[in-house]
Amino acid sequence: MNDVFSLDQKTLDKNYWEERWENQSTGWDIGYSSPAIEEYILQYSNKGANILIPGCGNAYEVEFLWNLGFTNITILDISKTAVQILKDKYQNKKGVTVICEDFFNHQGKYDLIIEQTFFCALRPELRPQYVEKVHELLDEGGRIVGLLFNRNFEKDGPPFGGSVLEYQNLFNDDFDIQKMEECYNSIPSRKGSEIFINLKKKI
Ligand code: SAH
Repeated sequence: MNDVFSLDQKTLDKNYWEERWENQSTGWDIGYSSPAIEEYILQYSNKGANILIPGCGNAYEVEFLWNLGFTNITILDISKTAVQILKDKYQNKKGVTVICEDFFNHQGKYDLIIEQTFFCALRPELRPQYVEKVHELLDEGGRIVGLLFNRNFEKDGPPFGGSVLEYQNLFNDDFDIQKMEECYNSIPSRKGSEIFINLKKKI
């Protein structure tokens, strides 16, 4: 049983993601930052906030944040191909730090973590660890904001789906669930299938 479990884990490791990037098999990439996340950022006034985007892929949010004057943005991905693209793209943007690392090994303290199609890329078995890690990485008063799928997928993931009830149970101990509701400004292909979350770290 344990062996089967660890074999499964291996299929979504660094090599799996690296291969997806090398083969340009990046079907999750919508080509721009999600309007729902942009809308949240527009009303977020602390431009000096320490912001992390884990499993960032092409990290389109960076352009948006940077143009608004945010000065402390960290983006992180496990794939070196993805990170090289980001380094080329953002090398002249002061205040943008690009890191190639497994999220679960990352150390730091942030005011805001932005979630966009990273949670659903991880094996569901890792969800409790994801919650724990996000909690650890957030400073007092910090929050995780972004989008989660509110549907199941027929095929084996990634992406892996889920439901509001599952997420409530998952986050409730460590976070004040300030928002977890159907997203009204999803992109057309995700309309009705995702929720917007705004979860504040409990001390
Ligand atoms: N947020 C981006 C990419 C989503 S796909 C977007 O929405 O377009 C998931 C991304 O997470 C991939 O780029 C993959 O390389 C990265 N990833 C997967 N597991 C990871 C891990 N453990 N740590 C950091 N990044 C990871």
